[in-house]
Amino acid sequence: MAYDFIENNSKAAELRPGSTSSDPVEPRLRKIVHVDMDAFYASVEQRDDPTLRGKPVVVAWKGLRSVVCAASYEARKFGVRSAMPAVRAERLCPQAVFLPPDFSRYKAVSLAVREIFSRHTDLIEPLSLDEAYLDVTENKTGLPTATRVAGAIRQQIRNELNLTASAGVAPNKFLAKIASDWRKPDGLFVIQPHEVEFFLRDLPIGRIPGVGKVTEEHLATAGIRTVGDVQSKSLEDLEASLGRYGHRLFELSRGIDPSPVVPNRVRKQISAEDTFPDDIPLQATVEALRRLAEKVWKASRANARCARTIVLKLKTKEFQTLTRSLTPTAMPTSDEELALAAVSMFDRIPLREGQLYRLVGIGLSNFQNDEEPPLFSAATENEAIPEQLLYPA
Ligand SMILES: [Mg+2]
Repeated sequence: MAYDFIENNSKAAELRPGSTSSDPVEPRLRKIVHVDMDAFYASVEQRDDPTLRGKPVVVAWKGLRSVVCAASYEARKFGVRSAMPAVRAERLCPQAVFLPPDFSRYKAVSLAVREIFSRHTDLIEPLSLDEAYLDVTENKTGLPTATRVAGAIRQQIRNELNLTASAGVAPNKFLAKIASDWRKPDGLFVIQPHEVEFFLRDLPIGRIPGVGKVTEEHLATAGIRTVGDVQSKSLEDLEASLGRYGHRLFELSRGIDPSPVVPNRVRKQISAEDTFPDDIPLQATVEALRRLAEKVWKASRANARCARTIVLKLKTKEFQTLTRSLTPTAMPTSDEELALAAVSMFDRIPLREGQLYRLVGIGLSNFQNDEEPPLFSAATENEAIPEQLLYPA
């Protein structure tokens, strides 16, 4: 495969004199890299403890409701996967070394990886501790192609951090993300602009971001199994069966994804929640709230911004979610006060005889200024990973 990725932008501009930036026909050609560390938490553990190398390693807390945070490739051979219940992983691979996650260490490594990215571009959008999008349309080192930039980043991660990363290079984010997964682990895959159509045609529809199991089955009943099948449907048909997502899918199937790489993604909430091993009454959640308040408080201290709203979240035994929020004139000044503020919202929870709860959470939101890089993204961002994964009971 030719590894000279994407013609120079200035050349592309010269080819179409008179075109403006709002030209809808020929949008500016971008060079996006998606970098994804390989089995990140498990790899850090194996790197730091040589006795773990070559062995199946599973990063997970002990506990019935705990899930796998990361599995080394040796463990994956046994079918162990991220987000699978830890007890299942133990059944599949009883000889694996199980380790509790050490997020402060992973975060430090993640920052070192980010420092390497920043040598090449300032347009970095971290998705979690181990993944990021980079816009290298203009890169800081003068490397002629995005492929060379991705190669240099992978080499620097290997040489300086003794870890491997996979990278995908493409003209947009969604293709770059698919590409980084294509040659995993320790791989590089490039989708050049003229290859997009061919690449997408036979791609199983489940590989498209946003197409989960349910959508996949729904589409299969309509005879849609590959991206090529989507291409043969009209926009109206797709919107009729999938609503707003139908429009997005229509564009993605044609390789269109104008979403920009957004540095400093804004965190909307710092929160933590616990799922209890057994469902418990409201008053019994206080102890858990205290622990969670301590964690949220700590995370908020590392944050330059000030929250103005406190959120209490409960989930009943019947899976009904209740949230209450409080925006006091004076915010708590300690984790104990934060816990008390959360407990003070109990009287706004409808009192039902014998009601039991399976989950409690506490959060801070409504931040005063919105400029802060998501250093805590994986640990505290709402959508990144379920909090119980990070703060188990
Ligand atoms: Mg990864």
